[in-house]
Amino acid sequence: MNLTLATTALKKYFGYDQFRPLQAEIIQNVFNGKDTLVLMPTGGGKSLCYQIPAITMEGVAVVVSPLIALMKDQVEGLSANGIPAAFINSSLNSDQQRKVENALLAGYVKLLYVSPEKLVSQGFQPLLKRLKITLFAIDEAHCISSWGHDFRPEYTQLKFLKAQFPGIPLIALTATADKLTRKDIVNQLGLEEPAVFIASFDRPNISLTVRSGQKRFEQIISFLKQHPNQSGIIYCLSRKGCESLSEKLNEKGFKSDFYHAEVPPAKRSKVQDDFINDRTPIICATIAFGMGIDKSNVRFVIHYNLPKNLEGYYQEIGRAGRDGLASDALLFFSYGDLISYREMFEQSDASTEQKDLKIAKLERMFQFAEAPVCRRKTVLNYFGEPYDGQCGNCDVCKNPPKHFDGTIAAQKALSAISRTGQRVGMSLLVDILRGSNRREILEHKYHLIKTYGAGKEFGYDDWLFLISQMMHIGLIEIAYDDHNCLRVTDAGQKVLFDGKQVSLAMPEPKTRPGDKMAAPKVVEKSKTQLQREELLSRLHLLRRDLAVQHGIPPYTLFSDVTLQQMTDARPLSDAEMLGIEGVSERKLQLYGDAFLQEIRQFVLEKTQAGERIIGSTHYISYHMYQTGKSIPVIAEERGFSTLTIMNHLATMYERGELFDISAWVSPETCDLIQGALPLFEEPYQLKPIFEHFSERFNFDEIRWAIADYRKSDKKPA
Ligand code: ADP
Ligand code: ZN
Repeated sequence: MNLTLATTALKKYFGYDQFRPLQAEIIQNVFNGKDTLVLMPTGGGKSLCYQIPAITMEGVAVVVSPLIALMKDQVEGLSANGIPAAFINSSLNSDQQRKVENALLAGYVKLLYVSPEKLVSQGFQPLLKRLKITLFAIDEAHCISSWGHDFRPEYTQLKFLKAQFPGIPLIALTATADKLTRKDIVNQLGLEEPAVFIASFDRPNISLTVRSGQKRFEQIISFLKQHPNQSGIIYCLSRKGCESLSEKLNEKGFKSDFYHAEVPPAKRSKVQDDFINDRTPIICATIAFGMGIDKSNVRFVIHYNLPKNLEGYYQEIGRAGRDGLASDALLFFSYGDLISYREMFEQSDASTEQKDLKIAKLERMFQFAEAPVCRRKTVLNYFGEPYDGQCGNCDVCKNPPKHFDGTIAAQKALSAISRTGQRVGMSLLVDILRGSNRREILEHKYHLIKTYGAGKEFGYDDWLFLISQMMHIGLIEIAYDDHNCLRVTDAGQKVLFDGKQVSLAMPEPKTRPGDKMAAPKVVEKSKTQLQREELLSRLHLLRRDLAVQHGIPPYTLFSDVTLQQMTDARPLSDAEMLGIEGVSERKLQLYGDAFLQEIRQFVLEKTQAGERIIGSTHYISYHMYQTGKSIPVIAEERGFSTLTIMNHLATMYERGELFDISAWVSPETCDLIQGALPLFEEPYQLKPIFEHFSERFNFDEIRWAIADYRKSDKKPA
C-alpha cells in the first residue's frame, strides 16, 4: 500500500490537498501493518490517521470510542463524504443492530465504531471473528489508564484484541497522555514495538489572553460585542454560576443557555444539540460540557473562573478552533478563586499526598495566569515541550509589560502589611493603601498607621496587579492556614528594611479591566472587505438552511474554513469548487450547485450595482453571453477587445461550463490543431501555433481548440 493512494483518497473523500504534520507517516506505518501510538492535540487531525487506511484497505476498520454521542457525529461526518460507516452501541435496539451486522457481513461498511462495552461483550465475539478486519483503532486511548481522569474500566479488557487478532495493526490515539499514561497504553493494549508519534501540542490559532477577574461580566459583554455571531463556551465553576451568567447574557441580548450535571438528561442533550447546530451560540457550562462535542467552529472558550490546573485549562481551550481558524481563549483569574479552591482541596477527604499534588498544580495554574511571560511558552513548557521565543498570539506578547523601579511601591505595601501586624488580606491591604473609609479599617484603627492612604497614585486594580507580582517574586506570601492573611517574607524584609531594589511590571491602562476590551477604533472598511463579509454571511445562511434540510450539523456540511475559502476564491465552476479545501466529490454532488448558485448570484448583483469584483471578470462576460448578447456587444459594453471577451468565454469553458463552440471552431479544425498541441508546452502561446500551421487557422480557432483540449481528457495527465 502506498501513500499516493492515501493522497488521492484524502482529496476525493475529504477535499483536502495535503496531510498535516505526521499524518502521512502514521498512515504509512499502519499500511505497513505496524502498531502505532499517536499523541496529537485536539483538532490535530487524529481521525484521518485511521480513516484513510480504513477507506483504502480491504475490509472493515473497527474503531473503539468511549463516547456514544461522538460516534454518531463521526459516522454522520463520514457518510456526508460518501464513506460507508456505522456504529454499534447501547443506543441501538436489536433490530437496528441486526441491520448493521448484515451490512457488515455483506462487506458494505468501511468503518465500524463500537463502544468498549460492546466490543468486549461475549455476544460480540462471533461477529468479530466473521469480519475481515483491516485495523483496530482505539480512540481516546488514555481512558485505559487509571492514572488519568477519564478512566474507563472496559478499556483495560481491550488486551484481547492483540491476543486474538495478532496480525492486525492496532492504532491507539489520544490528546492527553503524560509519560505514565503512555506506558500504560502500550502495556495494557499489548502493543508490539509500536511506533510512537508525538505531534506538537501547540495550537497556534488559539489566541491566549488572561485578565484580572474584576468586573468580569462587563469584560465578557465587551468581548462578545467584539465577536458578534460567534459560537463559544463559557466555563464556570458552579452550577449556579452557569445559570445566572446565562440569564444575564440573555437579558443583554446574547443568546445563551446553560449546562451542568444537574440539568436533566433530556434538556442536556437539547442544549448540546442546539449548540452543535448553531441555534444557541453561547453555552455557560461546568466542565461537564465539552467531552463528546466535535463541533469544529467553536470560536472562543472563556474561563469565568480559574481552572484547577493547566491540564484542564489546555483541554478546555482546545475545544476552540479545531478547524484551524483564529479563535480566542480568555481566562479570568482572581485570588478569590485561588482561595476557594484551596479550601475545597483542604476539606476533601483525599490523602495528604493527593492534596499536595492538587495544590501544587493549582499554584502552577496561578503562576501561569500571573507571570508576565509568553503564555504559550509557559503552558507548552509545562507539558514538556520546549518552546523558544515569543508566540506573538498571547496578551503578553501583544502587550509586553514595561518595567519600572517598584522599590517604593513595594515598600509601601510591605510596610502596610507589617504595621497591621500581618492581619490583613489582599483587598483590605489595597483599601488601606488607597485610604478608604471601609468599616473594617476604622474598626481596627488601620487609618492611624503611617502608610494609610500612602498609595493613592495607583488605582485599586493596579495595586492588585503590583501585589500579585510581589507574591510572584516572593516578597509576600499568603497564609492559607491563617485566614489568608498576607505575610512579609524574608526577601520582603530585605526590600522593606535594606532598600533592596525591586523591578515591577508597570500597570498600564490596558491591563485594567474593561479598557482593552473597550470598543475598537472604528476603521472604515474597504469595499472589498464589505463584499467579503456579505458573501461570507450569505454562505453561512445557506449552510444553515441546507444543514436543516439534510439533518446534519452545519460544520459537518462544510467547515468554516471551507466557507472562508469559497468567499475568497469565489469558485464559479465545479472544477474550481473541487479545488476548495473540504469539498469532497460527494459534497460537490450534494451541495456544490447550491453554493455555486449563491456565489454567482452575488457576483452578478454586485456587478449590476456597479461594484468591481476582483477575479470574476470571466464569469461576468460569460453571463452576458448567456443572456443572449453577442461578443462584440459584450466587448462594447465592458470596454474590452473582442479577443479578451473570447478569452473570457474560453476560460469559462475550460472551467467546466458546457456550451456549443462549433460557431468558433469546427470539429475538424479542432482535431487538427489539437493533434499538433503535444509539440508545444503549457501555457500555450497562440502565435507559434498560428505560425506552425502557416497562418491557416485564425487566433479564435486556436484559442478554442486549446480550451477544448484542456478541458477534455485528450490532454495527457
Ligand atoms: P482530533 O480528532 O485530533 O481532535 P480531527 O480528526 O477531528 O481532530 O480533525 C480536526 C479537523 O481538522 C477536522 O475538521 C478535520 O477534517 C481537519 N483536518 C484533519 N486533517 C486535515 C488535513 N490534512 N487538511 C485539512 N484539514 C484536516
Ligand atoms: Zn506569547
